[in-house]
Amino acid sequence: RGIDFSAIAELQLVQEGPTRVEPIDSFRAAGLHPAMLRNVELAGYDLPTPIQRYCVPAISQGHDVIAIAQTGSGKTAAYMIPIINKLMGKAKKLAAPRPNPVTYQPGIDQPCRAEPLVVVVCPSRELAVQIFNEARKFCYRSMLRPCVIYGGGPMREQMEQIAKGCDILVASPGRLIDFMDRPDILSLRRVRYMVIDEADEMLHDDWKDELDQILSGGDQEEGNIKYMLFSATFPKAARDLATTHLADNHVRLRVGRA
Ligand code: ADP
Ligand code: MG
Repeated sequence: RGIDFSAIAELQLVQEGPTRVEPIDSFRAAGLHPAMLRNVELAGYDLPTPIQRYCVPAISQGHDVIAIAQTGSGKTAAYMIPIINKLMGKAKKLAAPRPNPVTYQPGIDQPCRAEPLVVVVCPSRELAVQIFNEARKFCYRSMLRPCVIYGGGPMREQMEQIAKGCDILVASPGRLIDFMDRPDILSLRRVRYMVIDEADEMLHDDWKDELDQILSGGDQEEGNIKYMLFSATFPKAARDLATTHLADNHVRLRVGRA
């Protein structure tokens, strides 16, 4: 898989929301941390896709974002790059206390309760693993540690993974709710970014109540958490979710064919 730039070059991006941003023309123009710029280069991303040109500055400027764009338009990096970039500079201060992931022995060493700074929710195991791999690329040589949990996978192993330290948690909704019922192993009190990826898929599969519960799960102090909603389509259920949880002055992007 990869981006077919000739196919997306003709895509038109419309800013629909109340807040507008200036798009960037290159990753270099985004004012990224040098370590992030290097990770973007290592990923082989020469040019930002249309959705990335707007999302990277929007998220960097601290806006909530709704992005509606078809599959293959580069949505994962559109939020991963600016979010991880923001946290990179402050990783030492923000990263939760944790055991050494190399020497940590489950069942012998004291585990840490996972207190992620970022939660990404997506519909399936395959997607969760893909997003996790994208997060790993952009966390390279930072203090930030991504983890992934999903239904159907071994609960105990996933618990052991997040107990080694978890800054970015990629999760399917059911498994995340299971873990939220275990405040001894997972707390959302330090979450700064909540991302709902492929929102339409999850709403179609009737995860509305769970998504509401997850989006309300962090420390709700005004403006502490930035909310992002990514979707290929924007059905009423997704609009309702956005109205309930996103800031009124969010940035809304829609990519479609001209
Ligand atoms: P979407 O979520 O919109 O379906 P993805 O985030 O899964 O799209 O990206 C699709 C593919 O394009 C992935 O293989 C990803 O690594 C690649 N990709 C993303 N952004 C870029 C870029 N700027 N340049 C080159 N390839 C990219
Ligand atoms: Mg995607």
